[in-house]
Amino acid sequence: MSLADITTRITKAEAAAGRAPGSVHLIAVSKVQPNERVAAVLGEGHRCFGENRVQEAAGKWPSFREAYAGVDLHLIGPLQSNKVRQAFGLFDAIHSLDRPKLATAIARIAQEEGSCPKVFVQINTGEEPQKAGVLPGGADAMIAECRALDLPIEGLMCIPPAEEEPSLHFALLAKIAERNGLSGLSMGMSSDFESAIALGATHVRVGSAIFGARVAAG
Ligand SMILES: *Cc1c(COP(=O)(O)O)cnc(C)c1O
Repeated sequence: MSLADITTRITKAEAAAGRAPGSVHLIAVSKVQPNERVAAVLGEGHRCFGENRVQEAAGKWPSFREAYAGVDLHLIGPLQSNKVRQAFGLFDAIHSLDRPKLATAIARIAQEEGSCPKVFVQINTGEEPQKAGVLPGGADAMIAECRALDLPIEGLMCIPPAEEEPSLHFALLAKIAERNGLSGLSMGMSSDFESAIALGATHVRVGSAIFGARVAAG
């Protein structure tokens, strides 16, 4: 696979779902990938990337941003409250808002900085104890709380359980978003982004299908 292959598959999936061309953003997940592979994808003109660790992003993206204009960087992994300020300096969007305490921390720093990355509330659609995210039953209250804090909520994000049919989780996420008037849906990875697009994904997070297998665990 390559960037061009994935872009073509996204365009086909948009058309098959009767959706406008370009309505799905491709977040190229570059975590743990060697810098040469990331530079190659930047060189092809792609600018939207995802990282799951603040520390790792801090080590590589400031210099990529200097070399390539227009980078759009998304945090797709966990964020500790004490790293929020650092995350503001690195990321254009945060997909992992998963608890009220973090919402409060983001709102406070946003007020101080006078700006805020776009925010997605992460929903634990599979109700997995080991996974981050707000439980589906608590989603409406969490979204209301974020709105009361004036956070720029772009939409919802989920990571379906590995062993279950992802479509059920994509449909659940879409339903929660719709009843809350949210249009952004961050869902779908290398193995299932086409079904996510069929169910309304606006942001797909694709790593290994673009860059090849990750060398270390990420
Ligand atoms: C690593 C990661 C991805 C990309 O996974 P692939 O299977 O390599 O496409 C997507 N979303 C999150 C949250 C991730 O951590």
